[in-house]
Amino acid sequence: MAATADVVVAGGGVIGTAIAWRAAAAGLDVVLVDPEAGDAASLVAAGMLAPVSEALFGEQALLRLNLLAVGRFPAFAAELEQAGGHQVGLRREGTLAIAYDPSDHAALLRLTAFRRSAGLDARELDSGQCRGLEPFLTPDVRGGVLFPGDWSVDSRRYAAALRAAARAAGVRMVRDRVTGVRPGHGVGVRLAGGDDVGSGSVVIAAGWASGAITGLPEPLRAVVRPVKGQLLRLRHPDGIPPVLSRTIRATVRGADVYLVPRADGEMVVGATQEERGPDRTVTAGAVHDLLRDAMSVLPVTSELILAETCAGLRPGTPDNGPVVGPAGPGGLLFAAGHYRNGILMSPVTADAAVAWLTGQRPAAEWEPFTPQRFLAEPATAGARTSKEAG
Ligand SMILES: Cc1cc2nc3c(=O)[nH]c(=O)nc-3n(C[C@H](O)[C@H](O)[C@H](O)COP(=O)(O)OP(=O)(O)OC[C@H]3O[C@@H](n4cnc5c(N)ncnc54)[C@H](O)[C@@H]3O)c2cc1C
Repeated sequence: MAATADVVVAGGGVIGTAIAWRAAAAGLDVVLVDPEAGDAASLVAAGMLAPVSEALFGEQALLRLNLLAVGRFPAFAAELEQAGGHQVGLRREGTLAIAYDPSDHAALLRLTAFRRSAGLDARELDSGQCRGLEPFLTPDVRGGVLFPGDWSVDSRRYAAALRAAARAAGVRMVRDRVTGVRPGHGVGVRLAGGDDVGSGSVVIAAGWASGAITGLPEPLRAVVRPVKGQLLRLRHPDGIPPVLSRTIRATVRGADVYLVPRADGEMVVGATQEERGPDRTVTAGAVHDLLRDAMSVLPVTSELILAETCAGLRPGTPDNGPVVGPAGPGGLLFAAGHYRNGILMSPVTADAAVAWLTGQRPAAEWEPFTPQRFLAEPATAGARTSKEAG
């Protein structure tokens, strides 16, 4: 059956669902299409909101966007909890980065000097101070750095809350796959089930698979690639109190591992970073390496229950930045490529998308991250209603 809407969003991960919710809250009639196969990266993610510990040499523009994102998160989360009636598990205890051996420590201090030079709050701690904050850490820890501005959210609860809020705001959910943007310049989509949805605007938010949708400008179809991440979910046995009170990011003999505690007793251990195309298998070697590194810094990890192993596909891009903004004439918007920080960036992505959909200017931090950097011709998007689209 053909349907119409002001906006069709292709993809129901945190990016597409946040956009759908905010667009509906802004008064637009929204259809959200997702096959709901459970393979969204959003359901695998650790949920770190980590602009500081993710800040790397040469990525200053991305850092500015991530700082905007973390600043926006608390108010967005509070409104979301109220709108959908779900708690999202936002934790603001900060993140402790620790180093296991002398060369890990030297590398951490180099990065810390860079992060401080960018004006970020990074507090150096010796081994005893690290263990004062987290008593279960191994005494072998060389030292660490506390990042008070890096938080976390329970990504699965957050995704569920977004869906609930989107539904409550009137978003219509369609369980299908978008195969193409309809010819006629972004005025509607074609679904795998054979139906069309006509709309004033189309938002492509299908994560790493966004490029499979036909009708997009060709250069954009090749921009987002899958970057595999394997990750473990551990649980505390009944009666055992939490072994961590904040996120730990450790470098262990050159390898990075993070441990993210949740309020409900879950602890996430991640993650690999692999260029293997769309492969979501979990390997024995990855489980072994993650547990080995986690146990090196937090030996009590061995007492926890291995509840789940999983793999997800981050939407990576050539410059590690997201690709958000007008992607062609007639209300076609692209919102994908959030790579390692899609949970963090979902609120500000929704803000920017709604700004473009309603003819407003998004925050200046988005300027370096529009599709224009991959497209030769300038594009425009703006509000058009389904009636205008015909
Ligand atoms: C191991 C791992 C750890 C991570 N940790 C963090 C972290 O700590 N903090 C953080 O901020 N980020 C983290 N990320 C990154 C984060 O998960 C992603 O950036 C984010 O989830 C991307 O969201 P998305 O909505 O764009 O994509 P996805 O969550 O992948 O959602 C895309 C959706 O599109 C749907 N879809 C695909 N094709 C179509 C189509 N043709 N039509 C309609 N729907 C379609 C899919 O079914 C899916 O539901 C992590 C990722 C991984 C893998």
